[in-house]
Order: sequence, then structure tokens, then C-alpha cells
Amino acid sequence: MTLKYCTELPEQIVCIDTGYGRDQLDAAYLVRAGERAAFIDTGTYHCVPRLLGVLDYYGIPRAHVDYVIPTHVHLDHAGGAGELMRQLPQARLIAHPRAAPHLIDPSRLIAGTSAVYGEAGFRQRFGEVVPVSAERVIEAPDGFTLELDGRPLVFVDSPGHARHHFCVYDARSRGFFAGDTFGVSFREFDTEKGAFIFATTTPPQFDPDAWYHTLERLLAHAPQRMYVTHFGCVEEVARLADELRRSIREFSDIALEVASVGEAGRARMAERMFESLLQGLRAHGCHLPQAQTRELLRLDVELNAQGLDVWRERRRKASTGER
Ligand SMILES: [Zn+2]
Repeated sequence: MTLKYCTELPEQIVCIDTGYGRDQLDAAYLVRAGERAAFIDTGTYHCVPRLLGVLDYYGIPRAHVDYVIPTHVHLDHAGGAGELMRQLPQARLIAHPRAAPHLIDPSRLIAGTSAVYGEAGFRQRFGEVVPVSAERVIEAPDGFTLELDGRPLVFVDSPGHARHHFCVYDARSRGFFAGDTFGVSFREFDTEKGAFIFATTTPPQFDPDAWYHTLERLLAHAPQRMYVTHFGCVEEVARLADELRRSIREFSDIALEVASVGEAGRARMAERMFESLLQGLRAHGCHLPQAQTRELLRLDVELNAQGLDVWRERRRKASTGER
């Protein structure tokens, strides 16, 4: 028997549903080796009691957690990292070099995220963001390798979704902890054809060309599975990588095709993404009612539209030499 929000995967990996937003939206992973453990992604501040509950359930002393590893600083992945570190006396925080400053001093991160969700929305969704003291932070540049009690974890710089993103390769299970870099794959959309996947173009650092390149670098490790944050372990890596590339291309095309700007432009891009995803899901053999499908997609589509808007504006400025 396992906790109802945990799924045990092979090679001593536990997928934890953090409970953020709804069931099966946001995962954190516990990786074990010998007596030691690490968390990869943390959910938000509100999710920390659940992560600690998982340690209790498996009888893992808090002092046996060596590392907390947020894949990037978006708060559904890293928001709980500071509070979790406060509860884990021996842990080091492993952070992307671009992420580390924001976890040590989260003020800009809070301001930036409040701009997307609004002040009240921020509190309700993310609670607090607890700073991590600098001496507990280890920066992991591209190629960095960590040994979790002899289990090597290799860090790959992964721009595309965000420039402060790394993916973590676990040779033992031949899988990547991919954060958002292998897209979003909701279990509700699984059919006899397998998993359905799409890109998340969250503001402000979506970069399609960087993302295609990152995918090549991930695939060079010949992974057999991907542990995505939204949500769970997916296999059929080659097919899903093709579909993710298609999704990145399709969304960036939508951004360039929609002529209207501002609020109207974002609404039009969102509608085009809905149409494309609904059509894709029908072809995938998904028969959920349309209203339910739209609800499952709504937050991602809204964030995607904001991110595409920021991206096309950045592109326009670069092409006209504006700053
Ligand atoms: Zn993200």
C-alpha cells in the first residue's frame, strides 16, 4: 500500500502529487539511494507538509535528505524549496546558476509572479517564498554531476521553456527529470494511443530555437522515460519528442499569425491554441466532454498566450533594434 498521492516507480523513485491546483497537475519526485534521498521539484510552499509526510511514510529521517533540486524557479516547481530546506537540516539546494540568485533572494521572483497572477492570486496559489541561505546553495552548471550515495545525477542546461532550467539525467533508471522542458502531459488525456503532450510557453523566456536544441541534447542520452512535472512518468520518448516539437512550432506559428495585439491578441492566441489542442486530442482518441477538456487546459493556455505575447514582442524589438 502506498499513500494515495504517491506512485512508486522503478529504481526507487516516487512520484508525489503535490496537490497544487488540482489532482495530477503538479508532481515532485523523491529519489532514493541507499539510506539517502533527494527531492526533485517541490511544488509550492503549501505542498511542503505533503512532501514531509512522504518521508515519514517511508521512514526516512529528515537528516537523510541530502538535496533539494528545483528544475527551475517557476513557483509550481520551486516555490516550496525554501520552506522545505528549512525543514531538512542536512540538505543542500542544487540550483541552475541563473536560478540560484532568485532562490537566495526571491523578491524579484515574487514581484514577477505577482505580475502574472495578481497579488491576491499569488498569496492564495503560492503562499510564501522562503529565502535559502547562500551557503546552502550549490550551483549546477551544464555537465555538473552529483552523487546521491553513489547514484550519479547529471545536470543538463535546458533553455527553451526558461533560461534558468536544467534537466537531471538519472542513468540508473535511464530517465530525465525534465521539469517543463519535455512539455506537459496530463494523465486525463491518456488513450489507447498513449500519452498526449504539448508545449508550455509560459512567460517570459520561451525560446523555440533554444528548445529544439535542448531536446536534441536530452535525446543524445537515449532516455527511455521522462519524469515530467505536469504530470508523471512518460515513455515512448521519441514519439513524444516529435509531438512536442510540433507543438512548439504550432504555438510559435500562432503567435506570429495573430495580427491583433494586447488583450485581444492574447485572447485570439488562446482561442487558436484551444482549437489546435482540441483537434489534436480528438485525433488522439480522447473522448472527454469539451467543457472538461477546456477546463483542464485553461490555465496552461492562458499562460501560454501571455508567454507567446512576450516572445513575439521580444522578437519584434530584436528585429527593429529597439531595446
Ligand atoms: Zn515552468
